[in-house]
Amino acid sequence: MSKKIVVLAGDGIGSEIVAQAVKVLDCLNQDFDLNVEMEHGLVGGSAYDETGSPLPEATLTLAKESDAVLLGAVGGYKWESLDIAVRPEKGLLGLRSELELFANLRPAILYPQLAHASTLKEDVVSGLDIMIVRELTGGIYFGQPRGIRTLDNNEKQGFNTFIYKESEIERIAHVAFETAMKRDKRLCSVDKANVLECTELWRAVMIRVSKEYPEIELSHMYVDNAAMQLVRAPKQFDVMVTTNMFGDILSDCAAMLTGSIGMLPSASMDKNQKGMYEPIHGSAPYIAGQDMANPLATILSVAMMLRYSLGSEELAVKVEKAVETALNQNLRTADIYTDGDIKVGTEGMGDAVVAALKA
Ligand code: NAD
Repeated sequence: MSKKIVVLAGDGIGSEIVAQAVKVLDCLNQDFDLNVEMEHGLVGGSAYDETGSPLPEATLTLAKESDAVLLGAVGGYKWESLDIAVRPEKGLLGLRSELELFANLRPAILYPQLAHASTLKEDVVSGLDIMIVRELTGGIYFGQPRGIRTLDNNEKQGFNTFIYKESEIERIAHVAFETAMKRDKRLCSVDKANVLECTELWRAVMIRVSKEYPEIELSHMYVDNAAMQLVRAPKQFDVMVTTNMFGDILSDCAAMLTGSIGMLPSASMDKNQKGMYEPIHGSAPYIAGQDMANPLATILSVAMMLRYSLGSEELAVKVEKAVETALNQNLRTADIYTDGDIKVGTEGMGDAVVAALKA
């Protein structure tokens, strides 16, 4: 039986990078018997322009009825002055919460071909393979109350709420421990338990859940130290688990270890392995429409989709190998280019991956 994917290109470079991922899926359909049907929908600023909402009902229905969602990116200057309730980012946050995608997996892997493209010394990053597990539907990004209020003296005050229930921490803890079981069995939980009660509870729940996974070596680190350790000695980490906001920041930091944010895919999962797959970067408005964006994070997100939601480890590995083949041919988009490489655009990189799949 065929599986259904909804494709949401979004804004900025979204349509360019997603087009390359769709080429990969088309190739897998034609040449490797992947039986998926794709439907396209609107999200973000482009959805707001057409419908007045960054997450139209039709998109949400499509997403709910699909087996997996492939997303490009949302946002851009054009929509920055809109009320926060209808900004493009609300479309993305809405999808994550409506689909209950509470577990965000963000692998930071350094391809050996890109060791010299990282801003860090080669010996610090070569061999890097970290999995960041970020809680995605709770914490300060969703906590209530929130807003900007005017005080008695007419001064404005902005406020947000950092909030987690035990059950929310428990479910992400299980995903993190299960992930670590399939890897090097080391899990580092990142919090700020010395200052924030919310993460004092986070730490206590992590310790409690760890009793069910005696094989896993659990450690704890404050987020400020974790940021420093990620650039000082990143290879000390195997799996990291953290809150929504800390994971957002730390995974961008980890992205740079791999050469470029254009290389990092992600999977956001619900409890039934339904997932939304997207590069971790944004809509990069500066380079949109110029055939400059790196499509590999989006193509690698397709590999994650194959692995986690479409049940095909074999095709996932094929896609990852095809990406490596393109890199072995020294093909590089501008963000990962260094002297001596062959510069290609978004389309050129997508074509190279498809050619490697067909070879
Ligand atoms: P960004 O990730 O779009 O860009 C950061 C930097 O990385 C820029 O220099 C950009 O040119 C570069 N970059 C990003 N993706 C790239 C790619 N594939 N290839 C080459 N270079 C790439 O972050 P930003 O500039 O902070 O935000 C731009 C817009 O994107 C904002 O509206 C923001 O809200 C939105 N955003 C969306 C998401 C998402 O959709 N998941 C995530 C982050 C930011």
